[in-house]
Amino acid sequence: MNKEAYIQMFKDTDALLEGHFLLSSGKHSAKYLQCAKVLQYPNLAEMICRDLAQYFKDKQIDVVIGPALGAVTLSYELARQLNCRSIFAEREDGVMKLRRGFKIEEGEKVLVVEDVITTGGSVREIIEIVKEYKGEIVAVAGIVDRSGGKVELGYPLKTLLTLEIETYEPEECPLCKEGIPIVKPGSRKSK
Ligand code: ZN
Repeated sequence: MNKEAYIQMFKDTDALLEGHFLLSSGKHSAKYLQCAKVLQYPNLAEMICRDLAQYFKDKQIDVVIGPALGAVTLSYELARQLNCRSIFAEREDGVMKLRRGFKIEEGEKVLVVEDVITTGGSVREIIEIVKEYKGEIVAVAGIVDRSGGKVELGYPLKTLLTLEIETYEPEECPLCKEGIPIVKPGSRKSK
């Protein structure tokens, strides 16, 4: 699927909202992205992962790993299509780690995934975990690169969409100046 079709899919499933939003950071934005809204449909998750998987089909990936919870569905479906394991890391006392007996064997080929890559914070934490286990990171894959292509992770990055979503400090927000009512995404009817 091309970029326009993806954007339409995101809008149709309310994964991409347009309006005036109060983000958890306290900043304001005219767009809000929530990949879980599109990944709740297994057929769409399958389609998205088919497009992503094509880049890694011949890379002999042993394991796909992402940070919980956002990347769990993506990691699972991508691994299903690549016919390999899917694991996730999660926070314990604020530190991202492998739990539940999950392991990466030395030399295993690893694909790191995250649904939306903004600053790459959680992805970097996953990369550190893979290095500790001496896995071999092949690439990082995601659905959306929200950095507008600026993020640098030290490994090849493959995403299906690149979006630059501007955020504003409340006092400088042009949407506030226009008097558009603000919505906190996920709180109630957000359309
Ligand atoms: Zn505002």
